[in-house]
Parts: sequence; structure tokens; C-alpha cells
Amino acid sequence: MKHRNQVFDNVLDLVGNTPLIKLNKIASKFKGNFFAKVESFNPGHSSKDRIALYIIEQAEKKGILTPGDTIIETTSGNTGFSIAMVSIIKGYDCVLAVSSKSSADKIDMLKTMGAKVYVCPAHVSADDPRSYYQVAKRLHEEMKGSVYINQYFNELNIDAHYKSTGPEIWKQTEGKITHLVACSGTGGTISGTAKYLKEQNPKIKVIGVDAFGSVIKKYHETREFDEKEIYPYRIEGLGKNLIPSATDFDVIDKFVKVTDEESAHMARYIAKTEGMFVGYTSGAAMQAIKQLGELGEFNENDNIVVIFPDHGSRYMSKVFSDKWMNEQGFFDSKNEAAAQNIQYIK
Ligand code: PMP
Repeated sequence: MKHRNQVFDNVLDLVGNTPLIKLNKIASKFKGNFFAKVESFNPGHSSKDRIALYIIEQAEKKGILTPGDTIIETTSGNTGFSIAMVSIIKGYDCVLAVSSKSSADKIDMLKTMGAKVYVCPAHVSADDPRSYYQVAKRLHEEMKGSVYINQYFNELNIDAHYKSTGPEIWKQTEGKITHLVACSGTGGTISGTAKYLKEQNPKIKVIGVDAFGSVIKKYHETREFDEKEIYPYRIEGLGKNLIPSATDFDVIDKFVKVTDEESAHMARYIAKTEGMFVGYTSGAAMQAIKQLGELGEFNENDNIVVIFPDHGSRYMSKVFSDKWMNEQGFFDSKNEAAAQNIQYIK
């Protein structure tokens, strides 16, 4: 492992080994010690760098990928950015089918990183031919020499975190972690990390974060896919309208659901209290900690690790835009005044 005071061969050398940073204020009213695994320190600014690099290198090892080939993926943005970054360094073409729910910033970033982007409607079922899953599948069939990463149904997604995120957290906490709190989208992060950590200490509690409007929590509790749970929500990258095989439900102890509004305010609050500019799902994960803390989940000597998956800059036109917050009706309630820190001098 290289350290930051050395010279790196290229940006991919900086994937992983992200810092674990103590949360000093935001959870101070709860018992326990709280730490954030801040994944925005990856060169592509999210945890998805880990799976992009790992899955592509596995395909290279198996001889499936050779320079000049095309890599295809469905993504809410972060995985696409990471695959595009890895593709540039390694000499692949990158084609991405993304949801129309993704922010304009994210789509522009993918294009900046050389990817060809297909924007697909967000609120259609997964088997609709217009869904980003079906579009990616079709493109893969049509393009010779293409590889479909398929992060929701690729067990290498779990493996990537089992081999990196899990061991890093174990080492960084010197084996003292008692709780892991992580968002579940594909489920790769929480499943791989939890699998490694529980092999070291089966007593570690693993708590997944899900969105209202997603089927994941109910499936975990009942093993039933309940379509009635599905309705549109705004958080990107969290929860799902299908059951991903990249989620290992057996290593997760329970799920907590969070709202769009509270998660958005929490993302803003993390910046103001801890000086960490992290994304919407980091707000969701912290909101889950708040809900758990209020229910008395944590004890004095507990060491709680929360994963902050990406950087706040990806949400400037959403959570960190007062205009957007207002449009969602998120400033109606007690939480925060719209123009809190701004004074216009006329
Ligand atoms: N947060 C963000 C911003 C994401 O893009 C994702 C991935 N969809 C997640 C959290 C969840 O990570 P995972 O897919 O590994 O469950």
C-alpha cells in the first residue's frame, strides 16, 4: 500500500484505504463512539471506485477484457463515474445507461469522463424495455466484445468490499467495531464489509439503511417481494424496486428506513457540524443513526462505524440547493430556514 507522500503511477493507485474519521459533534447526545468511513476520499469521490477497479481487474485476469473493448453498466451515477475513470486509464470504451432521476451534474460528469450516456425513465418497472437494466442488456447483446458489469447481480461487487472495505475498517478500529451502519443499494458495500467483519467477530451488529418506497427492508424481514412497498422517492443510490443478488441478506441484522426530507436535512447538517461535505446517502445513513440512537440502540463503549458513500459536490443542484429543497417542500417544516446563512446586501 502506498502512502500519500509518495508518487503514484496513476489515479487508480489511490482507490481504497479511505480514512476513518471520528464524528465529534453530530452524534454527541448518544452513547457510544461514532466514526465515519469517508469514501469521498477515493479518486472518483465514492465507494464505487472499489468495485469498478476490482471487477474490471478480475475480468482482465480471466481474459474477458482486452484494451479497446467496451464496458457497459447501469448506474445512478457513481458506479458510472468510477468505471469511466478506470476505463480511461486502462483503455476501454465506457457506455452507461442511467436513470432520469440522476442529477444533471452527475450526467455531465460522466460525459466529462469520456462515457457515452443513455438516460432512461426512472419510474418504470425493472422489466420494462425502457428501464436502464433492459437498455444495458440490449446494448450488451448488440455490441460485440462488450462486458456488462451488472453491479446488482454480480457477486464480485460483494467480493470487492469483502477484500477491501471490511479489512480496512477492522484494522482502523483495531478490531473494536461493534456496529456497522451502511446504506443498501446494490447491497455490495454492506454485504461484503459485513461478511468480513462478522468472520472476525460474529457479535458485530450490521444495520442496513433503506428508503421509504423501496422493497429491501420488507424482503429482509419476510423474504417476500412486496410490490405494494414501491413508490417514487428522491434519494439516489439507496433502496430498490427489485431484490439484488449482490445483497447477502443473511449478514445484515436489520434495516432502518429513512425519509427523503430528513436525510436531506441531515446531509446539510453533517457539513455544518463536522465540516464534511458528503452526499445524500451519507445524510440517510446519519439519519438512521439518529433514529437508532433515539431508540437507545447504542451503549457507552460501543464503536459505531457509518459509511459515507460519496461527496457532496455531486448534489449541488439537489440537496445543497435551497431552491430544490424549497421545491420539494422540505423547508416547510421546523427543520431549517431557506436562506439561513445568506444575507443579501442591497
Ligand atoms: N450511496 C450512493 C450515493 C450510491 O451511489 C450507492 C450505490 N448505488 C450506495 C450508497 C449504496 O451502495 P451499494 O450499492 O454498495 O449498496
